[in-house]
Amino acid sequence: MLIRHIIVVLVASVLLSISLKLNAEQSQQSKPQSPVLKVANSHAWRPFSYLDDNQQPKGILIDFWKEFGKRNGYQIEFVLTDWQDSIDAVRSGQADVHAGLLQSPERLAFMDFGTPLFSIDTQVFFSQALTGVSADYVLAGDTDHTVGVVQGGYEEEFMRTEFPNVTLQLFRNNQAMLDAALSGELQAFVADLQVANYHLYTTTNQNLFIPVRHLYTETLYAGFAKGNTALLNQVSNKFNWLDDDTKRQLLNRWVYYDVETVYPAYLFPTLITLGVLIVVSYILLLKRNVRQKTRALQSANGQLQEQAITDSLTQLHNRRFFYQCLKDKQGEPKNMALMVFDIDDFKAFNDGFGHAHGDEVICFVAETAKSLLPNDAVLARIGGEEFGVLHPFSSAERALSQARLLCDEIARQSLARFNHPMPVTISLGVAYYPDGLSDSEIVAADKAMYQAKKQGKHCAVLNVI
Ligand code: GH3
Ligand code: MG
Ligand code: MG
Repeated sequence: MLIRHIIVVLVASVLLSISLKLNAEQSQQSKPQSPVLKVANSHAWRPFSYLDDNQQPKGILIDFWKEFGKRNGYQIEFVLTDWQDSIDAVRSGQADVHAGLLQSPERLAFMDFGTPLFSIDTQVFFSQALTGVSADYVLAGDTDHTVGVVQGGYEEEFMRTEFPNVTLQLFRNNQAMLDAALSGELQAFVADLQVANYHLYTTTNQNLFIPVRHLYTETLYAGFAKGNTALLNQVSNKFNWLDDDTKRQLLNRWVYYDVETVYPAYLFPTLITLGVLIVVSYILLLKRNVRQKTRALQSANGQLQEQAITDSLTQLHNRRFFYQCLKDKQGEPKNMALMVFDIDDFKAFNDGFGHAHGDEVICFVAETAKSLLPNDAVLARIGGEEFGVLHPFSSAERALSQARLLCDEIARQSLARFNHPMPVTISLGVAYYPDGLSDSEIVAADKAMYQAKKQGKHCAVLNVI
């Protein structure tokens, strides 16, 4: 039962695939094939017709015939060879039509010409090396200069008829001739303006050649083998669409191509972007540099200002700062105490233990005084071993007790600090100003200090103003 089912399914699928195949073949046969038109021309006639690096047909005439095929339902096959071979291909029937060539009496003998396509200007070009040489002399054959021309082209025919005495140098195609010209092997040549411009403007040495003599303006026609009137009529009747606008559009594509080749489309945007990037980076770098320099200057400035008011040995304020404070605090606040103290018999430390030790004693007195005074009191080293203090106290007695504390503590702590037989002591004068400072000098405090010295040193004397 199962086997019978399998056989039925197999037979059905074989029959189905056979019928599908037949259908496909039938539909292929019934589909009308578009006619093939073999179009011949040069493989090296830029920008009209040439093979690119991938051996693909390119150029104005190629575009034109492709458009023709699309509009009229032809499959176009291009036969691109050397110039003479392209004419022979049409003559021998290997190609149906020549894509575009000039009429000439010689060609009329074996070709019929169809619709006019594009007009071309043919000129003589001289290199800059021939500047000043008369084109008439060269063309008359009065000089040794040879003139390049494409072999088998209309130009050769024209030159041989019009200028029989000039020596022609023949080239297989325009590409070979222009290569020779641009490499300096050839100083003069005959070419269509479009062809020459294309080559000259797509190389960097575009000024090497200039047109010096217009030879003719002629029209390119589609060419057919002589007598093939049926094909000529069939093709020529289908050219109604080729109006001036369409021609211009087809040509413009190649003008644009030239420009693109000389200046790649990305070149200018890239250059502008690069320029903007460089300027922006430069400005940012400059700004960063200025910011860093400003910060360094501000810090150096701050350090300098600090140094200008600091005593380098003790790191207390210096005399300059202290006197400035005296000026600034005139009148306000009230109850101001100004103290001046001097280390007693300091010379003995210098003489007995050396100057460096003397410095140590000065530093010890500075540190100890600072630790004993309120944080906001102004304490400065105003002379060799002389200090000044400025701070308000609620009464003269409180100021005096602060002064005594300084005297006592410095002496006491010096015993623990140094191995001197005697303590380090100070004599201190306090001037107390209940109505605020009235004098920017320290005469009153000084007097009190000398009073203390006189009283036997290591004591504080109060002088209320
Ligand atoms: P007096 O009790 O009368 O004050 O006696 P004194 O020996 O302390 O006398 P005076 O104040 O006149 O002497 C101060 C000495 O301090 C003079 C100087 O050589 C010394 N001196 C000044 N500045 C410095 C300093 O920065 N370092 C050191 N080591 N000694 C200094
Ligand atoms: Mg002293
Ligand atoms: Mg002194």
